[in-house]
Amino acid sequence: FSTSARQVRGPDGERLGAVLAYQEITDLIRAIEVKDEFVASVSHELRTPLTSVLGHLELLCESDDLPAEAAAQLRVVQRNALRLQALLADLLLIGQVADGTLELHMGPADAAAIAREAVEFARVSAQRAGISLTADLPERLPLRADAQRLRQVVDNLVSNAIKYSRSGDAATVTARQEGDRVVIEVADTGIGIAAEELDHVFGRFFRGGEAIQRQITGTGLGLSIVGSIVAAHDGTVTVESEQGRGTTFRATLPARL
Ligand code: ADP
Repeated sequence: FSTSARQVRGPDGERLGAVLAYQEITDLIRAIEVKDEFVASVSHELRTPLTSVLGHLELLCESDDLPAEAAAQLRVVQRNALRLQALLADLLLIGQVADGTLELHMGPADAAAIAREAVEFARVSAQRAGISLTADLPERLPLRADAQRLRQVVDNLVSNAIKYSRSGDAATVTARQEGDRVVIEVADTGIGIAAEELDHVFGRFFRGGEAIQRQITGTGLGLSIVGSIVAAHDGTVTVESEQGRGTTFRATLPARL
């Protein structure tokens, strides 16, 4: 059942009573489950043929006797097949979150090293976009976490900071210890997020108006994945933003040392 309640007031604002509404939403929940199952099984089924496509592409790309133009086209095909693979991985992860089967491989990790690697990984794309990417990180920042998933969190935040910034803008990754917590911040001086969209950015498939208008490519899955991974670590992630001036995402995770 879904419930909602509302006060009823008269013309002078006096309280007349209240309306309490109960709605039976079994069918709606079942429909959402069916949709989640469908997305999960389609993503799963697409993975095997795509792995085969990528394997053959890799062999072809390594061949020395391809004409230059064919080799260049094959690389485009390979790049797009890799994008498809990343998208499928995101959809599978979203499916695992939805049906509660997301498994974390917790172990000793270093948030500073993870953030440093993410910054190095994004260095070239930041340079290409004309964005200065800097990191302000301590030598080490130990915590217990699923290092691979945490890297995914920082990768998503950093790639967004670059995607939603303009040439000449800056993006900064910082991390620090606060008591028994580790805080990772990704800030940019980019296009920002409209105030009325702030509550929705962590939703599945949500894309901002500016993102669509500026034709910035995306699926609306990145932040939903960030939110789910951080929540699975018993952490929180928040966003502050001013349209036209920039955005800061802050993930706070228990160090659990
Ligand atoms: P995608 O980037 O694929 O659209 P995300 O889930 O990563 O999906 O982000 C959802 C939306 O949040 C984006 O479409 C964009 O509107 C907004 N957003 C995310 N990160 C930023 C950022 N650093 N600056 C401005 N807007 C952002």
